[in-house]
Amino acid sequence: MTLIRAVSQRLEPTSDAQIAVMKDVVRSGAADRPGIYRMLSSSGEVVYVGKSKRLRSRLLSYFRCAYPADKGARILRAADAIEWDYTPSEFAALLEELRLIKRFRPRLNVAMKRDPGHYSFIKVTRGAAPKLAVVRGASADDASVYYGPFVGAGRIGEALRELSDALMLRDCKSDMKMHFSDQQELFQLMPRTPGCIRYEIGKCLGPCVGGCSVAEYDERVMLARAFLDGASDGPIEMLRRKMDDASERLEFERAAAYRDKLGRLEALREQFGRLRFAVETLSFVYTVRGHGGEDRVYVVKRGVVRAELAKPRSSWQRAKLKRLVDDIFATGERPTASIPTHEIDELLLLSSWFRRFPKEMGRTRQVS
Ligand code: SF4
Repeated sequence: MTLIRAVSQRLEPTSDAQIAVMKDVVRSGAADRPGIYRMLSSSGEVVYVGKSKRLRSRLLSYFRCAYPADKGARILRAADAIEWDYTPSEFAALLEELRLIKRFRPRLNVAMKRDPGHYSFIKVTRGAAPKLAVVRGASADDASVYYGPFVGAGRIGEALRELSDALMLRDCKSDMKMHFSDQQELFQLMPRTPGCIRYEIGKCLGPCVGGCSVAEYDERVMLARAFLDGASDGPIEMLRRKMDDASERLEFERAAAYRDKLGRLEALREQFGRLRFAVETLSFVYTVRGHGGEDRVYVVKRGVVRAELAKPRSSWQRAKLKRLVDDIFATGERPTASIPTHEIDELLLLSSWFRRFPKEMGRTRQVS
């Protein structure tokens, strides 16, 4: 059964005759202006979505791919038809391409996915004992919590290890079996061997060996999230209390260890602040010149397009835009620096757009 389905889903290479038909369709119908295109298989499946500032040139370039291994040739051989839509600008095409890829998840876009990039995120994983991890170009299809984006994956990784150590969070494999102290069956209360040395050297609470309860572990995760939000110095306060308690009990060695951790966490707070890409800077009204005067206005808040409309030409339309902007920015910011997973791709798209075309920032207007 599975085999039959697999065979029926295979993309049969398109014949030369059909490719010639597609070429004629593009030649006779496509204009050289911004737009997005969809490559469809013979069964109507959208197998690839692309965008271009000059649609006709881009589509015709597919038919010039000389080698079967070329990306363009492979896409063309999987397609039986090409559809396209024009967009007012390259920026609009980029946004539409992203939306279509999310909607159809075309198999060739997934297979040929480009390096997701320059930016890294801190991921707080799901599950019984969440851990902190650095990931590149977060995937929007899980329910983990993401913070970022940050530049400099290596430095963020080092900083995160310090944070995990200070809060004694685990950093082992995701499938490591957890045995919290309050979740053990009677017959399981025999001593266990920890999965790694971090428990014994005081760098992990040891949820794998009943070293902490669920609530104790969760409290540390909450402290980590508060710290990553930049909204609370919870972990720093916690360490300071521990250091003071140890001093009062005349446990000077322990107090000194807490003092060192405290110093590292304070340095980390600065480091996270410096490395965190200023998502807040991507909040503005952006006017984009469109093909044939089709100018559009995008209301962007925290790196995500919240509304778009034709550029206002009359005072009534300008008043309408102002009301819209006021409404969008009137709703308070999230009390967290975490990024909803469904917003990550668009945030990265906008970041990369303004990095590639810094002069475009001159076409934005900050909302006061
Ligand atoms: S001590 Fe256990 S829970 Fe902690 S990092 Fe090591 S294996 Fe993971």
